Amino acid sequence: MTVNVMALLAHGSINYEGVPGGTPQLTAEDVAGALGMGSLPREAYLLGLLKYAGDKTVLHELDTLVQKYVIGVGVKEKWREPWPNDKKRSLVFFKQFARLMINEIVFENLCDVCKGTGIDKRSNKFRKCNCNDGKRPLTKMKQAEFCGIFEKCWRVRWHTRYEECLKQAHKWHAQIIFHLSEYLEKNK
Ligand SMILES: [Zn+2]
Repeated sequence: MTVNVMALLAHGSINYEGVPGGTPQLTAEDVAGALGMGSLPREAYLLGLLKYAGDKTVLHELDTLVQKYVIGVGVKEKWREPWPNDKKRSLVFFKQFARLMINEIVFENLCDVCKGTGIDKRSNKFRKCNCNDGKRPLTKMKQAEFCGIFEKCWRVRWHTRYEECLKQAHKWHAQIIFHLSEYLEKNK
């Protein structure tokens, strides 16, 4: 399996002009090896393996770590658990909350209809997709559904917290990009 280095290039962090042979191909092993070098936080390391090396076996540990992160933020900011009398249900909620963050980083809100192209090819008349330039983030209603909570409750209480937590996931992603870019620079 080769990794789509284009995804990295799309972030504009690497300049490949003048590199002989064009876009380098990295194998999943290369990426895994590069991610394992240095000192990425564990969350970033696993997220990198999932996103850029297609390694789904890390998902369980990643879920747990991100869930832990979210709960840590909650404790610090004194959130009230969604189901104070049902710890298990609250934990499941935070797990789904965490998975939502992971999914957003892995799939980058790519629109399902046009696959991120911005052009709807479902009929033979191609037309502009009604998404936002190939992006179609989940609606708040869908997010609530995914986390198993009432939509109103999500809108009022949890959505802002989610957006805050998501910033950390974007930081992990930025660390991955930086890390892989450095590796590619050194090995071109
Ligand atoms: Zn679309």
